[in-house]
Amino acid sequence: MYFSSHLSCGLLLGALTKSSVGAFGLGLVSHAALDMVPHHDYRSVGGAAIDLVTGLTILSTIRTLFADISGPLFWGAVGATIPDLEVALRHVLPRYNFKALFPSHSGALPHPQRKFPRGVFVQVVLTTVCLFLTCYFGVVC
Ligand SMILES: [Zn+2]
Repeated sequence: MYFSSHLSCGLLLGALTKSSVGAFGLGLVSHAALDMVPHHDYRSVGGAAIDLVTGLTILSTIRTLFADISGPLFWGAVGATIPDLEVALRHVLPRYNFKALFPSHSGALPHPQRKFPRGVFVQVVLTTVCLFLTCYFGVVC
Protein backbone atom coordinates (compact mmCIF):
# COMPACT_ATOMS: atom_id res chain seq x y z
CA MET A 1 0.00 0.00 0.00
CA TYR A 2 1.18 3.52 -0.72
CA PHE A 3 3.13 5.61 1.80
CA SER A 4 0.41 8.31 1.68
CA SER A 5 -2.31 5.77 2.48
CA HIS A 6 -0.50 4.34 5.50
CA LEU A 7 0.46 7.84 6.62
CA SER A 8 -3.13 9.11 6.48
CA CYS A 9 -4.26 6.24 8.68
CA GLY A 10 -1.45 7.02 11.13
CA LEU A 11 -2.56 10.65 11.26
CA LEU A 12 -6.09 9.52 12.09
CA LEU A 13 -4.75 7.34 14.90
CA GLY A 14 -2.84 10.32 16.27
CA ALA A 15 -5.97 12.46 16.17
CA LEU A 16 -8.01 9.74 17.86
CA THR A 17 -5.57 8.77 20.60
CA LYS A 18 -3.86 12.12 21.25
CA SER A 19 -1.03 9.92 22.50
CA SER A 20 2.33 9.62 20.76
CA VAL A 21 3.02 6.14 22.15
CA GLY A 22 -0.52 4.91 21.50
CA ALA A 23 -0.57 6.33 17.98
CA PHE A 24 2.82 4.78 17.18
CA GLY A 25 1.79 1.33 18.40
CA LEU A 26 -1.59 1.42 16.68
CA GLY A 27 0.15 2.77 13.58
CA LEU A 28 2.25 -0.40 13.40
CA VAL A 29 -0.87 -2.53 13.75
CA SER A 30 -2.66 -0.47 11.10
CA HIS A 31 0.17 -1.08 8.65
CA ALA A 32 -0.33 -4.84 8.86
CA ALA A 33 -4.12 -4.48 8.62
CA LEU A 34 -3.99 -2.17 5.59
CA ASP A 35 -1.47 -4.37 3.78
CA MET A 36 -4.12 -7.12 3.95
CA VAL A 37 -6.59 -4.97 1.97
CA PRO A 38 -6.26 -5.70 -1.77
CA HIS A 39 -4.31 -2.74 -3.17
CA HIS A 40 -1.98 -1.52 -5.91
CA ASP A 41 1.75 -1.14 -5.23
CA TYR A 42 3.87 0.90 -7.65
CA ARG A 43 7.10 -0.57 -8.96
CA SER A 44 8.87 2.60 -10.14
CA VAL A 45 11.09 5.17 -8.51
CA GLY A 46 8.92 7.91 -10.05
CA GLY A 47 5.81 6.55 -8.36
CA ALA A 48 7.65 6.30 -5.06
CA ALA A 49 8.92 9.88 -5.36
CA ILE A 50 5.44 11.26 -6.10
CA ASP A 51 3.99 9.26 -3.22
CA LEU A 52 6.72 10.39 -0.81
CA VAL A 53 6.30 14.08 -1.69
CA THR A 54 2.51 13.77 -1.47
CA GLY A 55 2.67 12.06 1.91
CA LEU A 56 5.16 14.49 3.40
CA THR A 57 3.06 17.42 2.16
CA ILE A 58 -0.02 15.91 3.82
CA LEU A 59 1.94 15.33 7.04
CA SER A 60 3.27 18.87 7.13
CA THR A 61 -0.12 20.40 6.37
CA ILE A 62 -2.05 18.39 8.94
CA ARG A 63 0.57 18.95 11.67
CA THR A 64 0.44 22.69 10.98
CA LEU A 65 -3.36 22.74 11.08
CA PHE A 66 -3.49 20.80 14.34
CA ALA A 67 -0.33 21.97 16.09
CA ASP A 68 -1.71 21.13 19.55
CA ILE A 69 -1.63 17.40 18.70
CA SER A 70 1.39 17.59 16.40
CA GLY A 71 3.34 14.95 18.38
CA PRO A 72 0.68 12.22 18.25
CA LEU A 73 0.02 12.99 14.57
CA PHE A 74 3.72 12.63 13.79
CA TRP A 75 4.24 9.42 15.75
CA GLY A 76 1.06 7.88 14.37
CA ALA A 77 2.38 8.59 10.88
CA VAL A 78 5.80 7.15 11.75
CA GLY A 79 4.31 3.97 13.22
CA ALA A 80 2.05 3.49 10.22
CA THR A 81 4.78 3.98 7.63
CA ILE A 82 8.06 2.77 9.17
CA PRO A 83 7.50 -0.93 8.33
CA ASP A 84 7.90 -0.10 4.63
CA LEU A 85 11.45 1.09 5.30
CA GLU A 86 12.56 -2.53 4.87
CA VAL A 87 10.80 -2.63 1.50
CA ALA A 88 12.46 0.61 0.42
CA LEU A 89 15.89 -0.62 1.55
CA ARG A 90 15.51 -3.78 -0.54
CA HIS A 91 14.91 -1.63 -3.62
CA VAL A 92 17.62 0.94 -2.84
CA LEU A 93 20.23 -1.67 -1.89
CA PRO A 94 19.44 -4.68 -4.11
CA ARG A 95 22.89 -6.25 -3.54
CA TYR A 96 22.10 -6.83 0.13
CA ASN A 97 19.73 -9.67 0.80
CA PHE A 98 17.36 -8.17 3.35
CA LYS A 99 15.02 -10.68 4.87
CA ALA A 100 11.63 -9.09 5.46
CA LEU A 101 10.71 -8.97 9.15
CA PHE A 102 7.30 -7.30 9.18
CA PRO A 103 4.51 -9.93 9.02
CA SER A 104 2.74 -8.45 5.99
CA HIS A 105 6.05 -8.35 4.08
CA SER A 106 7.49 -11.70 5.16
CA GLY A 107 4.47 -13.71 4.02
CA ALA A 108 3.18 -14.38 7.55
CA LEU A 109 0.13 -12.26 6.70
CA PRO A 110 -1.59 -11.96 3.31
CA HIS A 111 -0.56 -9.03 1.10
CA PRO A 112 -3.06 -9.17 -1.78
CA GLN A 113 -2.60 -7.00 -4.86
CA ARG A 114 -5.26 -5.28 -6.95
CA LYS A 115 -4.45 -3.92 -10.38
CA PHE A 116 -4.69 -0.33 -11.51
CA PRO A 117 -7.11 1.47 -11.38
CA ARG A 118 -9.13 -0.39 -8.73
CA GLY A 119 -6.12 -0.82 -6.46
CA VAL A 120 -5.49 2.91 -6.61
CA PHE A 121 -9.16 3.79 -6.13
CA VAL A 122 -9.24 1.81 -2.86
CA GLN A 123 -6.36 3.90 -1.54
CA VAL A 124 -7.78 7.23 -2.71
CA VAL A 125 -11.00 6.46 -0.83
CA LEU A 126 -9.09 5.25 2.25
CA THR A 127 -6.83 8.31 2.29
CA THR A 128 -9.73 10.72 1.81
CA VAL A 129 -11.77 9.14 4.61
CA CYS A 130 -8.79 9.05 6.98
CA LEU A 131 -7.88 12.70 6.33
CA PHE A 132 -11.50 13.82 6.70
CA LEU A 133 -11.79 11.99 10.03
CA THR A 134 -8.38 13.29 11.14
CA CYS A 135 -9.59 16.85 10.63
CA TYR A 136 -12.89 16.05 12.35
CA PHE A 137 -11.29 14.49 15.43
CA GLY A 138 -8.47 17.02 15.41
CA VAL A 139 -11.02 19.77 15.90
CA VAL A 140 -13.72 18.03 17.98
CA CYS A 141 -11.74 16.15 20.59
ZN1 LIG B 1 3.86 -2.61 3.89
